Amino acid sequence: MTTTSASAHATTNHAATQSLFEDAIKRLDEAGSIADINPEALERLRHPKSMIQVSIPVRMDDGSLRVFEGYRVRHDNTRGPTKGGIRYHPDVSLDEVKALAFWMTCKCAVVGIPYGGAKGGIIVNPKELSRMELERLSRGFIEQMADFIGPDTDVPAPDVYTNSMIMGWMMDEYSTIKRRYCPAVITGKPIPLGGSQGRNAATGRGAYHCITQLAKRRDWKPGKTTVAIQGFGNAAQSVARLLHADGYQIVAVSDSHGGIHRKQGLHIPSIIQAKQDTAHVKAVYCHGSVCEAVDAETITNEELLALDVDVLIPAALENQITADNVDDVKARVIVEVANGPTTSTADAALADRDVLIIPDILANAGGVTVSYFEWVQNREGFYWPLEDVEDRLGKIMAREFDAVYDIMDDKHVDLRTAAYIHALNRIGAAVEAQGTSRYFTSDG
Ligand code: NAD
Repeated sequence: MTTTSASAHATTNHAATQSLFEDAIKRLDEAGSIADINPEALERLRHPKSMIQVSIPVRMDDGSLRVFEGYRVRHDNTRGPTKGGIRYHPDVSLDEVKALAFWMTCKCAVVGIPYGGAKGGIIVNPKELSRMELERLSRGFIEQMADFIGPDTDVPAPDVYTNSMIMGWMMDEYSTIKRRYCPAVITGKPIPLGGSQGRNAATGRGAYHCITQLAKRRDWKPGKTTVAIQGFGNAAQSVARLLHADGYQIVAVSDSHGGIHRKQGLHIPSIIQAKQDTAHVKAVYCHGSVCEAVDAETITNEELLALDVDVLIPAALENQITADNVDDVKARVIVEVANGPTTSTADAALADRDVLIIPDILANAGGVTVSYFEWVQNREGFYWPLEDVEDRLGKIMAREFDAVYDIMDDKHVDLRTAAYIHALNRIGAAVEAQGTSRYFTSDG
């Protein structure tokens, strides 16, 4: 096991692009110049607390050995144990994990839950692995990480291409190493292994609450409001299901294989069903009986981002709306269910055109909020019914959305800057409570 510096791997998979972490810190500095925050708090947030890089040897089904590279970054723990998902993706890099960990610090502060931020990832295409290889890889990662994570230090969760089954394996491996049952070490677990009711749908549900709070302020009529969603995984499906049930016109959805578009609106429950059955959104259009029933045209992900819709929901990966395609984006509102889908250059261009962006650190905070509920339930050994989870989540999301929106109006800033100011107020207060130079240089 080795530790590594930030710079060693920061450019491994993003050589051609700007550093995601630097881009993220740029936004911190912008918001910090407006927020009433001690400069020492800002300085602390510019530097991740600790980073670890591990090699995970895995015995493959054919008897060969493959070694995978993984990372865990703890960004800041001033407000509590660090919290953040584990991503399995071929493009994972330390730079990306650092940016995602930083966003987690801000996200937990935006919704006021007592955590700092962390993130992890393994460079792997999980679709190429068998279930048993995936299990060996997941357990191998925890074997390397067991001294760095824990219910009071750092609590992982699922992210892109990881799910509740993987969280269950990881919790089991950690418990085996510690020789006691430790459900609170990880969240997003299967319900029979200490998971929380409502966790799977929580990220999408949180985004849904943001949209409905905005709809009240803008007097939207769901039947007349069009929506396009990029990505159709865990987070996208739950926000799609809830918006569809309210009557919103979801005209396009996509996944890594491409998308489907229907001007009159898609029937979301049957697409979710078909995606679960076939694994591809495109299959809904191209194959089988649902194909005829859906009556939609295929579109590319680029075309989806350029659709003339009221609400665009990027719910796949980061860096989707960039300087290259921002001029094509016609949506009036963007809801960032994915982390970091809009680059700072694109952000500025959208702000000039008065496009309202509900930023990732607010829009997708429902996931970590219910992860917090899961951790609380694990520690209490007392489990809540679904209604309690949904009720508490709804109240937190509505309250924090309104608080961020009011900061936007008061300070005449965009919603992203307002969300950072809201987060920085909470983080800054915690840093100040430990004492800053004002305290240590005073005579008293
Ligand atoms: P997931 O693995 O369940 O789904 C990802 C989806 O994106 C899949 O449908 C995949 O096909 C699609 N996709 C991948 N590459 C794509 C591309 N180039 N174009 C279009 N679609 C593409 O992941 P998820 O958990 O739903 O996470 C999606 C996003 O939401 C990520 O940015 C993640 O960080 C963020 N997020 C998730 C959670 C959560 O609780 N799941 C919480 C907060 C944020």
